Amino acid sequence: AKNSGKRGYMIFNDAMHDAVAEKTQLVSRLRQALKNQELKVYYQPQFDMKTDSIEGFEALLRWESPEYGMMSPLKFIPLAEETGLIVEIGRWVLAQACAFSQDLYKSGQRRLWVAVNISVVQLIQEGFVQSVADVLAETGLSPEYLELEITESVLMEQLADNVRKLAELRAMGIRIALDDFGTGYSSLTYLKKLPITAVKMDKAFIDDIAAGGIDAAVTGTIIELSHQMGLSVVAEGVETETQFAFLKQKLCDTIQGYLISWPLPPEEFQNLIETGNKR
Ligand code: C2E
Ligand code: CA
Ligand code: CA
Ligand code: CA
Repeated sequence: AKNSGKRGYMIFNDAMHDAVAEKTQLVSRLRQALKNQELKVYYQPQFDMKTDSIEGFEALLRWESPEYGMMSPLKFIPLAEETGLIVEIGRWVLAQACAFSQDLYKSGQRRLWVAVNISVVQLIQEGFVQSVADVLAETGLSPEYLELEITESVLMEQLADNVRKLAELRAMGIRIALDDFGTGYSSLTYLKKLPITAVKMDKAFIDDIAAGGIDAAVTGTIIELSHQMGLSVVAEGVETETQFAFLKQKLCDTIQGYLISWPLPPEEFQNLIETGNKR
């Protein structure tokens, strides 16, 4: 490659080759990571605006690898989805999160609900609903304390099948939240067709609150209309008191964000709950 006259072209090719090689390497490392216990589940509190306390938490996956350090799920989850590895990883996260919720309760804490992110690649698997039922049976967690978060934009693919599965999960008593709401192309009327219990407003809306412009008004409207449809509203990425006050005034049900706490490793989350969870 180095001897080529069309150097630019060959450099481009080399770079592409490197990217593919790096990806292959990453995938095989990710496969090992699951076995070697380099994957961790962190927990971020979900704060209830009515009771003024932490009532639940979201499970967020972390990969701490010796060679890459702490890697963002935004980087490795797409890879895990491409290769199908997310099916195994996702089931593991679900089992960890449900078991953790049970442990907390057994250690004498109030019952908290647990929210787990589900990739559409998991959802479209034939046995997905059964695998969730299996995890609940294995861990002993009651379905009403489990919420599955599904990203809005991907739900549209194979919509009929997905809706049927979500309805089955709902029938079991599991709650379903539409994640990253507002970033996709769905309309509020389309929400009515989905067997969901909550919408999770994307951080982009929350970021705009302080500006006080048109987007703040949109945020308020989304909350109102969601309530009219019987849906609960979660705001994510809440970082400031201004956002908190606005969301409280607009009767947002639940908030999540650095203002309350970062996602924490299990022991630290447990400490946070034990030392009192008032703001
Ligand atoms: P998400 O589900 O939308 O999660 C919210 C992200 O915002 C998380 O990033 C969280 O750490 C971050 N966050 C929370 N509060 C704040 C805040 O106040 N300010 C800011 N700037 N960020 C905040 P994280 O943990 O890096 O996860 C990124 C994405 O990776 C998640 O977005 C989710 O789509 C995906 N993900 C994480 N864990 C899992 C998993 O177990 N399974 C699947 N399928 N996806 C996962
Ligand atoms: Ca989420
Ligand atoms: Ca989200
Ligand atoms: Ca997201």
